[in-house]
Amino acid sequence: MGRSVVRAGAARCPGCSQPPRLCVCDLLPPVETAIAVHLLIHRHERNKPSSTGALVARTVNGCTSHLFQRATRHHPALGLAREAVNAGGEPWILDPAGEPLPAGAAATGSAHRPAVVIVDGTWREAGEMTRSLDGLGRRVCLADPGGRPGRYWLRDQPGPTHLSSAEALMGVLGAVGETAAEERLRLHFELHVYATLLARGRREMAERYLGDSPLLGAGRDALDRFHARSGGAA
Ligand SMILES: [Zn+2]
Repeated sequence: MGRSVVRAGAARCPGCSQPPRLCVCDLLPPVETAIAVHLLIHRHERNKPSSTGALVARTVNGCTSHLFQRATRHHPALGLAREAVNAGGEPWILDPAGEPLPAGAAATGSAHRPAVVIVDGTWREAGEMTRSLDGLGRRVCLADPGGRPGRYWLRDQPGPTHLSSAEALMGVLGAVGETAAEERLRLHFELHVYATLLARGRREMAERYLGDSPLLGAGRDALDRFHARSGGAA
């Protein structure tokens, strides 16, 4: 277990894994997308409160989660089989070493529903998980974020190509022109980061985070309800 699992035994919301006072469930509508989202979640990742894979699984309608684990003496190998990704075409596999996702790749109006596979693990785990997907689809990468600083303030990110699962999916949604879904997911993501910083007792950092957040704009209602529930503004 990582050190992000704070205070063993403390109560957590079974939905969002936040302390009940900082629960972010039901504050925003779910994300609707034409893309079939498949998450390959590392066994070690699925119970971490900071995980954005769990966030995507909880907030994106129709998202399917698959558990990954390497075979050990005690566990059989688990992963993602081609049949599990029921796409008419070739699923996209996000991989920083892949080809750029074509701008404007049609998400709607094409003959079949596009599918994307996103791996969710630590950076070290992600390499092994991505290799387990060899032959399953077409490897694509996202356009360079252009030096914009990352907004995932919960873990150190070694470089701009190392995105959290939620940010990776936002990149895909943006690339295919699903901007409403991208913006909705961004609000869920920002609320998740903000609440987790507060849960860690990092109030000052949480306030700084909020300063540049779309939660102050399009997410204002959700933020107000969050503050009402948590007992006041941060
Ligand atoms: Zn909750």
